[in-house]
Amino acid sequence: MLHYARPLARLIGELEKLPGIGPKSAQRVAYHILRMSASDARALASAIAEVKDAIRFCSQCFNFSEAETCQTCLDPRRTASTICVVAEPRDLIAIEKTGEYHGLYHVLHGVIAPQDGIMPDQLRIRELLERLSRSETSEVIVATNPTVEGEATALYLARLLKPTGIKVTRLAHGLPLGADLDYADQATIISALQWRREL
Ligand SMILES: [Zn+2]
Repeated sequence: MLHYARPLARLIGELEKLPGIGPKSAQRVAYHILRMSASDARALASAIAEVKDAIRFCSQCFNFSEAETCQTCLDPRRTASTICVVAEPRDLIAIEKTGEYHGLYHVLHGVIAPQDGIMPDQLRIRELLERLSRSETSEVIVATNPTVEGEATALYLARLLKPTGIKVTRLAHGLPLGADLDYADQATIISALQWRREL
């Protein structure tokens, strides 16, 4: 990094920490930022600062939220008796984009993956149980991805929720095996929701 002026080397070093950005891309983005207008560059820096200061987890569904409780959880038009469990906030966005799901969500922030050291207590599973114990939920739709870890997490939840008597369903296998909800097209997600099966 000795070839770069110190502030430029610092920016490249920070950019390299981002996912999917290697040294070459970091250099390209850094030069791009240098060529931006001062106001555009400041807008980018302040958007990064704001997202860290203003975004937190919704106290109910654990999606990212600006307020203590997110817009979706507060929306009286949503069917409060149905909770769709997703692994990541991006999966929630993928389902929301279809416009066909009107219940609530719960974001786990990962799936159970012992080989990667991710155990159930590191996910928002305890919070889901607490939430179910104080709400009138009749169905939990497990919408984890159809990967080995996603399936294992779905089965784990189904077993855990069995004593509650709440119906636990799983998205139908319209989704290609190993695929991400995030990459599935809307028609596929809609049919996976329609044809969900009981676990
Ligand atoms: Zn929420």
